[in-house]
Amino acid sequence: MSTQAAGEDAPDTVTPSTGAPAGAPAGVAQPLHGVGVSPGLAAGPVAQVRPPAGEPPAGPAVAEEQAEAEAARIAAAADAVRSALEQAATTVEGERRELLETTAQMAADPTLVKSASALVRAEHLPAPRAVWQAAGKVAEQLAALGGYMAERAKDVADVRNRIIAELTGQPMPGVPQRSEPFVLVATDLAPADTALLDPALVRAIVTAEGGPTSHTAILARALGIPAVVGLAGAPAALPEGELVLVDGGAGTVELSPDPERVRRAEERRTVVRTFDGRGRTADGHEVALLANVGDPDGARAAAEAGAQGVGLFRTEFCFLDRTEEPGIDEQAEQYRRVLEQFPGKKVVVRTLDAGADKPLPFVTDAEEANPALGVRGLRTARKAPEVLENQLAAIARAAGTTSADVWVMAPMVATVPETEEFVAACERHGLRTAGVMVEVPSAALLAGPILARASFASIGTNDLTQYAMAADRLLGSLAELSDPWQPAVLRLVESTCLGGAQQSRPVGVCGEAAADPALAVVLVGLGISSLSMTPRALADVAAVLAATDLATCRRLARAAVDAESAADARARVREGLPVLADLGL
Ligand code: PEP
Ligand code: MG
Repeated sequence: MSTQAAGEDAPDTVTPSTGAPAGAPAGVAQPLHGVGVSPGLAAGPVAQVRPPAGEPPAGPAVAEEQAEAEAARIAAAADAVRSALEQAATTVEGERRELLETTAQMAADPTLVKSASALVRAEHLPAPRAVWQAAGKVAEQLAALGGYMAERAKDVADVRNRIIAELTGQPMPGVPQRSEPFVLVATDLAPADTALLDPALVRAIVTAEGGPTSHTAILARALGIPAVVGLAGAPAALPEGELVLVDGGAGTVELSPDPERVRRAEERRTVVRTFDGRGRTADGHEVALLANVGDPDGARAAAEAGAQGVGLFRTEFCFLDRTEEPGIDEQAEQYRRVLEQFPGKKVVVRTLDAGADKPLPFVTDAEEANPALGVRGLRTARKAPEVLENQLAAIARAAGTTSADVWVMAPMVATVPETEEFVAACERHGLRTAGVMVEVPSAALLAGPILARASFASIGTNDLTQYAMAADRLLGSLAELSDPWQPAVLRLVESTCLGGAQQSRPVGVCGEAAADPALAVVLVGLGISSLSMTPRALADVAAVLAATDLATCRRLARAAVDAESAADARARVREGLPVLADLGL
């Protein structure tokens, strides 16, 4: 997918104020292209995220007699930042609140304040510089740990920038405070920035960095805000205050958009769609629309949104902060609280997917050179089989206390013997519906024999894309490779569906691809029987499927699989689905 101006022969120089390609007739603006990660059409004036002030100077040196007072300023500034973040946390709910509280805790962590104050006393550095250097050390240590901890290095930088702004009396970096709706434009968004977004005011998000599985993308989808990431040239190409039209499905941003298109986008935006709890195509072919959840609160929200069940319960999300294995009783209680939200309905519980971006110290090895290719997911059971056994015991116990139809699946299955062993382990605990996630290309290619052993498969398109394209899913600079529209990824989905059809076993999708209404049509056309997604996406996916018959799904699936690039696949399918434009998707 191009990250430049649209069109085969589009020039790659863009006049920033209008978006018009150099040499194009006046008034004709070419859209800028990025990766659409949260569908929807929205217009508004650009508001840029205030960048942090940058590296403070190392001088002038603080006089000896001033050093104590200068050091004391750091604790006071950190405290002010903590209290502002805590205050902001009380104004929001759920995931947004948790993110802010986590950042507030980091600001309250005495390590940074202590080491920065020590630098002021020992080296007579001005307070902002001391904070900069001390935070650099902490971030380095986190980055060296890799995976999830390395991601936390970004949070440290965020806290550092806030403390420095407080110390220097500069405006807080981050999302501007506005009372009128706007389109937020940034190089990248810190977690605390994203958490503060008010969906009533933020019409759309555009970033230069971040991929389809980035933090920004996931949160934008969860909040229902159209978003385009990986847009080269942002924020410079999108000046403050300029009116833009963002298409989060197509991945485009138009400068000086046609007023009629802006009016229509606004009209559609205000139509609130709901999901009636029955996913189907226009000709009545049933497709179960399920939710991805990570804890009991998420399960409640999913049930409220009308999800037909849970297609992916990420159990590791309940225990990400643990250094030791949680006991069977505690696990069973967490699982029970999720299951009880879906009486009589299907809930697919995934066993711990520890490793890479989600290390759990009691099963993963922080020293691995390539954690994404290491002992993660089901592979951790080689080293710690009792952790899997205990978890299955806990799932079985929770299943016995509710009427939910409990399915269990293992992440990162690559071979037939792994499948056999997992199914056997589930049977030992009386868990009869045992399946596998298809996230490794080998599993997609071996879907026939794998599904001769497993009851079902669920495709994790996030990891399947990462491994098929050899592109780190967290790396924004590879966003165009980390795209489930890549025809190679679609061919692996097709192969999995063929294996499922051979063995008469259901194949679902629970990666982020399921939340893209246009891609959902392709997946159904390839033979996918259930789609699991963030609850916010249910109504849009349901609406597009309800307007499309199965023959069209199959025809568009063929067109996408036969395409030669992700951009081509997307364009072919979008062209064949006028309903997307009608619904503003
Ligand atoms: C996936 O890889 O698509 C998936 C659903 O698992 P996770 O995102 O939790 O790795
Ligand atoms: Mg995965």
